Parts: sequence; C-alpha cells; structure tokens
Amino acid sequence: MVVQVNPSSHHCSKPIEGSQQKLEANILLLGAENVGKSALTVRFITRRFIGEYGEIESIYSHIDKIDGREISFNIWDSLYPQDTAITESISEKQLQWADGVILVYSICDRSSFEVVCQQVQRIRHASRKMSATAPIIIVGNKRDLQHRRSVSSEEGRLLALSEDCVFFEISAAETYHGVLLVFHGLIDLIKESRALRKGAAGIKSIVRNMSAVFGKKRAE
Ligand code: GDP
Ligand code: MG
Repeated sequence: MVVQVNPSSHHCSKPIEGSQQKLEANILLLGAENVGKSALTVRFITRRFIGEYGEIESIYSHIDKIDGREISFNIWDSLYPQDTAITESISEKQLQWADGVILVYSICDRSSFEVVCQQVQRIRHASRKMSATAPIIIVGNKRDLQHRRSVSSEEGRLLALSEDCVFFEISAAETYHGVLLVFHGLIDLIKESRALRKGAAGIKSIVRNMSAVFGKKRAE
C-alpha cells in the first residue's frame, strides 16, 4: 500500500516534452541516517531489498525505459554528515548537480522527519538564491513498521503540501512498486520543470526581440 499526494499545480499538467530522445536526470537522495536512502536506491536499481547497506556514499548510473523513452538516471545516494547543523547538511554542489531531490524520513523516527522539515526549507531557500527549480519528492519510508509509527501520514502530507512537494509513504522493504512510483514520479516532475523553464526562456527571448525592434524604431 502506498499513500501519495500531489500538490494541485502538478495535477493538471502532463509532461510537455514530446521528443523521444534519451533523457538524463540527476537525482539526489537526502535525509537523516538509517531512514532507507540506500535501500530505496538499491531497490530501484536491482528490484531487491538486501537489508544492510553500509555507510557508503555513491552516485549510481541506471538506465530505464518509461513509456518507451530511455531515461538515464544518475542517483546520488548521500551520507548524512555527523556533527553538522541540519541546514549545512546539504552542499551547494549537491543542489547545483541535482535535477530533482528525494527527501527521505522514517515514519518511526520523528527526528528524521524534523531533519526533512529543515532540509526542505534549506533547499527552497538555496534554490531561490541560485534561481534553481529542482522538484522535490518527500518520502515517508518504513511503512511496514506501523506498530512503531511516530509520524502520521497526515503530517507528511501537510509538510509536502506546504512546501509544494509530492508526497509518498512507502516501504522499501516490502514492495518495489512504491519505490518505482517515487523515481518515475520525480522524472515526470523534472520533465515538467524543464518544459516550464523552456517556456519561460522562450517568453524572455520574445520580450527581448520585441524590445530590440521597438528600441530600434524609436531610434530611427
Ligand atoms: P540510509 O542510512 O538512509 O541509507 O539507510 P539504509 O538504506 O542503510 O537503511 C537503514 C536500515 O533500515 C537498514 O537496516 C535497512 O534494512 C532498514 N530499512 C530500510 N528501508 C526499510 C523499510 O522500508 N522497512 C524496514 N522495516 N526497514 C527498512
Ligand atoms: Mg546509506
């Protein structure tokens, strides 16, 4: 069972890019330690849940097909740095690299939810400064551990709504399907965001051309 919520702005628009050329997407996984970032990554790439992953930071490459189109994923499975303020746990380098971000917490670890609350604000703040628009998916993982739940679905959903993110509650341990929805959902959002940026660039260049024409006319 997977819980999902999309902010309304993402409901109506479908990916606009029509071309079938290969799409490359850099995806950054963030969140506290032990929430299942590596489990999600490995589940997506191999379809398996192994159990123990070690403290490794890696960027994995993975090719997949979505609706007949080849997608080349670069997935940065990050390590949560110890002895660092939460807001400093994300580097500018990571944000410049990322086309999309997956923020993971564990539904049975309230402090990991608080990490995500602060990380999402840090990303929004830094993105405004960098004029970046990487879409974010918030994931409440370990949904199989209901008896140990300390973060309600509602809290996750509300956080996502308030920060204009998409939300999923999943169990990387139990099913591959939920993990697939997360990664494929992020690809849809990345396509939308690229199409919007292209549209905005198009409008800017029309405005530039028009001002050039009118500027010239005035000068004549
Ligand atoms: P990371 O530090 O965020 O990369 O977390 P890991 O992927 O290494 O997972 C931390 C621990 O949580 C490991 O023991 C995993 O087996 C376990 N784990 C990951 N996902 C789930 C899940 O969906 N359910 C349960 N019960 N355990 C999980
Ligand atoms: Mg890990």
